[in-house]
Amino acid sequence: MNIRDKIPRLPEIHVESNLNLLLRRAKENRTVDIEEYVTTGGYSALKKALTKFTPEDIVVLVEESTLRGRGGAGFPTGRKWRFALMNPPPRYLVCNADESEPGTFKDRIIIERDPHLLLEGMIIAGYALGAKEGYIYIRGEYPAGYLILENAIQEAKEYGFLGENILGTDFSFDIKVYRGAGAYICGEETALLESLEGKRGHPRLRPPYPAQVGLYGKPTVVNNVETLSNIPIIVTYEAHFMNIGPAGFFGPKLFPISGKVNKPGVYEATMDITLNELIEMAGGVKDGKKVKAVFAGALGVYSADELDTPMDYSPKGFGGTGTTIVLDEDDCIIDALLVITNFFHHESCGKCTPCRVGTYEQHVIMKKLKEGTATEKDLEYLKHLAKNIPANSICGLGFSAPNAIADALNKFPEEFEAHLNKTCKVCFG
Ligand code: SF4
Repeated sequence: MNIRDKIPRLPEIHVESNLNLLLRRAKENRTVDIEEYVTTGGYSALKKALTKFTPEDIVVLVEESTLRGRGGAGFPTGRKWRFALMNPPPRYLVCNADESEPGTFKDRIIIERDPHLLLEGMIIAGYALGAKEGYIYIRGEYPAGYLILENAIQEAKEYGFLGENILGTDFSFDIKVYRGAGAYICGEETALLESLEGKRGHPRLRPPYPAQVGLYGKPTVVNNVETLSNIPIIVTYEAHFMNIGPAGFFGPKLFPISGKVNKPGVYEATMDITLNELIEMAGGVKDGKKVKAVFAGALGVYSADELDTPMDYSPKGFGGTGTTIVLDEDDCIIDALLVITNFFHHESCGKCTPCRVGTYEQHVIMKKLKEGTATEKDLEYLKHLAKNIPANSICGLGFSAPNAIADALNKFPEEFEAHLNKTCKVCFG
């Protein structure tokens, strides 16, 4: 039995795009093999990169594209690459495919449906960075994705796109896939590197940054799936990449949208799309109801009067991974927060006390609110935690764990009141 025969059936996820860049081949629920990838223009960016450009040319192209990392923080990709290049080889490239933020399933579409797009991006990135090895760290809960990537790597090697002397040049590059064991914290890049080295996936203190001291102590670039999948597009389009989307936020962006919309799924758009337009693209709110709130993954909560927010990385933009979970007018904010706080308390790695204990206590208070046993004092403590968990934590999980609560306390105080008084119609009839 070859790898392809072991791949389980892919989940039905609605995919839509007007841009046809990242999702050009990914609209149908199947995996594009190498023959189809090549006959539809795949690996031509790699050929162009290796024959027309030096590694430095590619880095400059990525810098000029101003591509922001699509993993959440939105850090400029070219700057990260340049930082790594300031440190002597060997250098490593690591693809963060540990996608596990609540409501986030966009990278999954590329991995499962168009894996060669990611591989092509990684090979070009490896060339630009002077790396000989790349790793894909994929979350353990994506078993199909793991097998699909293994199969795609084998195909790419057979076709001469990966391995020794790629396309007859003196550039050699290999990619290995590593499965995580189901810990959200391993999506944090330094915890990911620890895990990849075979250790417990706890974040490292920064600095030094991975671009200085990364995998096995060597300079390492960690980019996520969507970021690396943009690289073949940048090489293909060169300066025309800057015609895709608004100034400062060029390029296609994937938005996973779920909750109370008619067509939950993954949508490709430019970052000048607003939250409202994205919800419309997803068929609007179910049963003609109104939006009550939008949960932005780990980032926070938007209210119905903030739907004109652009989905970009500006200070006023939606930012992050673009994760959008829609609640309608009949949903209870406390219910949604209960799910979010349960997630963070479960996933805190426990390295720092304010995060380990604080996320637990947040969840306990949310349970009390849900049950109608919380007091004003609990609410005060919740506010205290929202300020102090981020201020005393060392990584992104602790920084973001209280975001949704802090936003909801600010934007939906009446929902908390309704639970103190047991007047919430959803929870207390
Ligand atoms: S902030 Fe939380 S998840 Fe991050 S290192 Fe500390 S305990 Fe672990």
